[in-house]
Amino acid sequence: MVYVATAVATKSVGAAVEGLKALGFVGANVTIPHKEAVLPFLDRLSDAAQAIGAVNTIVRKETASGEAILWGDNTDVTGFLAPLMPFKSQLTGKPMLIFGAGGAIRAVVYGLLTMLKPSRLSLVVRNPEKAAPFMQDMAIYDPTKALHVTTWQELETHLPDAALLVNGTPLGMYPHIDQNVWESKAYHPHQIAYDLIYNPMETSWLKHVKAAGGLAISGLEMFIGQAAAAYRQWTNQEMPLDLVRQTLLDWRMKQEAAP
Ligand code: NAP
Repeated sequence: MVYVATAVATKSVGAAVEGLKALGFVGANVTIPHKEAVLPFLDRLSDAAQAIGAVNTIVRKETASGEAILWGDNTDVTGFLAPLMPFKSQLTGKPMLIFGAGGAIRAVVYGLLTMLKPSRLSLVVRNPEKAAPFMQDMAIYDPTKALHVTTWQELETHLPDAALLVNGTPLGMYPHIDQNVWESKAYHPHQIAYDLIYNPMETSWLKHVKAAGGLAISGLEMFIGQAAAAYRQWTNQEMPLDLVRQTLLDWRMKQEAAP
């Protein structure tokens, strides 16, 4: 098998998907800006892709009658949840807090509501009206009405009892690596901080929470996890996680050393 990267113009998304089928590809990844545009050209969608309204992985499958169909999935959900699974019992049913409510957070919220069932899931946003359609989309996965919007001014109220904190904003992303999402004296050792940012691998915010005794998870784990979930579906094999992680770390070190 080979994995190639190809740029596709917006007007050619449908033709590109049809081409995958015609050429007998086992599947494809889809990235920005086509994750939503690809939906109408797929034969079936996973529950996650349907809930989130975005596809990052296409898998060729065969129906019982031998017909090839293209199935769309969103492996950002599995990828996000993967590094949290060792803490599943510790996190299940606990209050959680998320900074931001953009594209990536859709997968995060769906994953948390369906897998870890938080008692409260606070979304910290700049503009609550902008988050309203997303809140409506998620309502059917939220029978206990755990999900609610809060503002940056009010977030300290929810910070101390949050067992999991997730950063879904670009605050702290390269080149603004000195930006810290939220400085606070309220962080404590029983919290897990998960930054979706993977460049840098450890953001200023993760360092800040770690200094208070909390556990830090880098966005690199989600990045690797979403790839592993796609790889598994195309090959029926496990992706060599350690090799991939080491290759990415070596690549990053070379980049940082470059003049
Ligand atoms: P996005 O759709 O642009 O959403 C960004 C969110 O952050 C929005 O809610 C936005 O609020 C908020 N925000 C932006 N600047 C802010 C600021 N200065 N102060 C407060 N809030 C701010 O971006 P995205 O695609 O969700 O990506 C978000 C982050 O996740 C990025 O760092 C990206 O690299 C990372 N990511 C990681 C993975 C992974 O595999 N690890 C996958 C996808 C994304 P407004 O709506 O008010 O602008």
